Amino acid sequence: MTTPSIELKPSSHPLSDAERDAILASPGFGRHFTDHMVVIKWTEGRGWHDAELVPYAPLSIDPANMTLHYAQEIFEGLKAYRHPDGSVALFRPEANARRFQASARRLAMPELPVDLFVAACDAIVRQDEAWVPAHGGEESLYLRPFMIASEVGLGVRPASEYLFLVIASPAGAYFPGGVKPVSIWLSEDRVRAVPGGMGDAKTGGNYAASLLAQAEAAAKGCDQVAYLDAVEHTWVEELGGMNLYFVYEDRIVTPTLTGSLLAGITRDSLLKLAGDLGYTSEEGRVSIDQWQADSESGALKEVFACGTAAVITPVGTVKSARGEWQQSGGEPGEVTLKLRKALLDIQTGKAADAHGWTHPVA
Ligand SMILES: *Cc1c(COP(=O)(O)O)cnc(C)c1O
Repeated sequence: MTTPSIELKPSSHPLSDAERDAILASPGFGRHFTDHMVVIKWTEGRGWHDAELVPYAPLSIDPANMTLHYAQEIFEGLKAYRHPDGSVALFRPEANARRFQASARRLAMPELPVDLFVAACDAIVRQDEAWVPAHGGEESLYLRPFMIASEVGLGVRPASEYLFLVIASPAGAYFPGGVKPVSIWLSEDRVRAVPGGMGDAKTGGNYAASLLAQAEAAAKGCDQVAYLDAVEHTWVEELGGMNLYFVYEDRIVTPTLTGSLLAGITRDSLLKLAGDLGYTSEEGRVSIDQWQADSESGALKEVFACGTAAVITPVGTVKSARGEWQQSGGEPGEVTLKLRKALLDIQTGKAADAHGWTHPVA
């Protein structure tokens, strides 16, 4: 089975420049989609085939489509940024491609070759390049590659047919009014993932599992939920869509990948970038007791969350059944802001990329 090349069948009626510019003036997040999408099919015995870039359009789904019933679905998220010379680059797409393969294995889905994943991302960015916001701010074109089962039937087993798609959506700055700390509800009873489960796969099911806790957090006036491990209800894991970092005087620590948290590419990049900036960065375990005690004693200087969407988000207020405390006086920390700028400067092409993370597209 050979890797198919992507046939370009562009739209004959893309949005006008004026319509697109109106969207790009205030894109928000995930509200508007570009003129195209990539679709690649997989069939048992045949492999990947019929790779196409086509006009963005609704899918026709049979009511007995297996994904609708048994949730075989995985996704990725990555951004294309406009660089100062007008070119466009993706950030570490091969890392997303490899994680997509790992997610596919966990959900008994076929693995898309890394080069085909990257070619699909390149194809939509090239075709819809005019949708990549101008250089200067934090705006980007967000890509959402995903895979669903396309077989029809209610028998419970891995499907024998799948669709891989990439859609693209312009994304505004996450903090248009300047970086502000988020408030966290620390959930001590609800969990999002268990050892042996699928917490380390990027699958919609993990998000479905998190929505009730997220709604409870909102009812307590918090922006995000922090989850603890599912066995001891002791060890801090992640936010359910972002990984966490704890900034001490002499080191920065992020929770070890135990299998029930997602291996964020932002998290991985920061482990390396922190070293470049002269910080000691490490993986380790942080308990909820330690978080509270170190925050209150001042030993824990800063806490931040990280992920593709927000890059880095400072953590301010933390609320839980055991009480409430303020991290860093509710202000964004100095290390947090320094790391945020260093990473964004590489992503947007303002700073040299010593790690070979940026992938030129157009
Ligand atoms: C995508 C995701 C993250 C962040 O990963 P990045 O690769 O940095 O965007 C963290 N946690 C979960 C559960 C995720 O799905």
